[in-house]
Amino acid sequence: MNIAIEGCSHGELDLIYEHIKRRQLEHNIKVDLLICCGDFQAIRDEFDLEEFCCPPKYKHYRDFKDYYHGIKEAPLLTVFVGGNHEAPSLLKELYFGGWVAKNIYYLGHSGVISVNGIRIAGVSGIYDHRDYPRGFFEARPYDESTKRSAYHVREFDIKKLELLKEPIDMFVSHDWPRGIEQWGDVEGLLRHKPHLRHDVEANRLGNPYTWMLLRKHKPRYWFAAHMHTRFEARVKHDEGETYFLALDKPIGRRSFLEFMQLEPSVPTSYFSKNSVDLFYDIEWLSILKANSHKMPMNAFSSAVELSLIEPNEEVKKQVLRALQDNSLERVMVNGKEMYKIKPPTENCIKNPKDQREMFMAMLKL
Ligand code: 5GP
Ligand code: MN
Repeated sequence: MNIAIEGCSHGELDLIYEHIKRRQLEHNIKVDLLICCGDFQAIRDEFDLEEFCCPPKYKHYRDFKDYYHGIKEAPLLTVFVGGNHEAPSLLKELYFGGWVAKNIYYLGHSGVISVNGIRIAGVSGIYDHRDYPRGFFEARPYDESTKRSAYHVREFDIKKLELLKEPIDMFVSHDWPRGIEQWGDVEGLLRHKPHLRHDVEANRLGNPYTWMLLRKHKPRYWFAAHMHTRFEARVKHDEGETYFLALDKPIGRRSFLEFMQLEPSVPTSYFSKNSVDLFYDIEWLSILKANSHKMPMNAFSSAVELSLIEPNEEVKKQVLRALQDNSLERVMVNGKEMYKIKPPTENCIKNPKDQREMFMAMLKL
């Protein structure tokens, strides 16, 4: 599969798709999938725009609205996580992930999916230690404080991702896993971004919990954004290595988009070259099902660490049955059943709450 990776999008979809088109022509290839690492700015209307936090000069719709209204269409499957410049209400409604436009899929506050056998896990938002132990209390009407806390990564999402056991090909986050800069050219980074020195020297840059996930899951790839610079690192594990790549933002920068060829870690002959499909991840859905009653809604910081439940075989069976009962398209890949995520109808794009409710009803969450 040919994959394009993008750093912060900042709503510049036209420019990004234009670059991908040019690349396809120059190299005579088809790019199958675009991954966006946050600051996607899926701003639908004036309310989203009002709730979207950024310096005043950047407070504009940019391109998403036309894709949302179907005036333009994403030319390839686009999967994104959220960053710290987002419309909080839409992302909250799609907490478990979902379609924000035709061909544009939000991975959720945390999420795992597969694209033609490539297993992609991700987490949205940025780390802030004060909000990490809080629940999901933010809702409309947002105030100046909740507009911001809404995009801070929560313990509940990290703890669910921590429960994964099956191998992950690609992990996507907006801010960097803490300390990752030490595994690449940190001096070069500091020459380019001297204001980071203080945080780097205090080992305070990025999210300590995504670093824990990186060490635990050892994904083949980890993509991120947020620092507005290209940076690569290779983290050596006892077994294997994670290739980390952070990319820049689009306007006026060179390194915001990168292309690579990636094959599933478990090779399979099933997927044809012409069809790119999104699949539910059964292990992930089982984790959601086993822990949905644990989702914290508190505004205060909880004093005790969350303890989540590992899904047992019975939960996995229930998830499989739920997927079967939902008449989703099923394919067998290397003896494992996989279920396609249905493409969106116009109605489901306009009603993200319904998407969330249908998802919860399907899994009986
Ligand atoms: P954003 O586009 O998310 O508003 O901001 C990204 C900018 O903030 C980048 O230019 C990056 O250098 C800076 N930045 C992000 N996180 C940190 C951090 O933890 N420490 C410091 N010193 N700068 C940061
Ligand atoms: Mn950012």
